[in-house]
Amino acid sequence: MGQSRKTVCVCPYCGRQFEIDVWDSVNAAADPHERDRVMSGDLFRHSCPHCKTDFLFRNDLVYMDPRFRFVIWLSEKDPMDQLVQYTRPLAKQGWKLRRCNTIAELIEKIQIFEDRMDDVAVELAKYDSFIEFIDNKKGKPEDITSVEYQRTDNGVMKINIRMDDKGMSFLIPTGMIEEELEEDAARFEVNNEEFPCINGDWMISLFKEADGKA
Ligand SMILES: [Zn+2]
Repeated sequence: MGQSRKTVCVCPYCGRQFEIDVWDSVNAAADPHERDRVMSGDLFRHSCPHCKTDFLFRNDLVYMDPRFRFVIWLSEKDPMDQLVQYTRPLAKQGWKLRRCNTIAELIEKIQIFEDRMDDVAVELAKYDSFIEFIDNKKGKPEDITSVEYQRTDNGVMKINIRMDDKGMSFLIPTGMIEEELEEDAARFEVNNEEFPCINGDWMISLFKEADGKA
């Protein structure tokens, strides 16, 4: 299913144009090599022939993995009708449909689904880690460069909070997060068929809305 095509891109460093090969779709089960190139970022990495600088170019991409039953649409736009028609029956069979805004979000999301984790639970664990970090005065919110899911071992999620050169890990039991989700199920509901964007901003928006109402 993987397909590549030529497109013109503008070098973010020197501003000159050149032609690159981009992928419109990747099926990880059919092409494990392409899956690895997505996870390393190499699929999106290009080198400018003029100034020789490497950079990441995010093009719209459909990433699917039938083994883990999910489809991710990498784009800032809603998916095209063609994709929605194709995935509707899959959603009914329990496949997860998601949209990701950035390459980093895509890579993290693939890791979450390959670990057979619920991404809403992961986002809540990331949010809880963030709050704990701030409450315990480990650093200021503006110093945090990222909050990342790393992996899950024996029912414990490992979340990393990074500040430029430093970092801190949080170990969050999945059982604790599942309870938190159950207690407030309506808040965390997602409409799978509409390719929801489940990320840190989404989780923060859920808590902001609740604060607004209170
Ligand atoms: Zn250049």
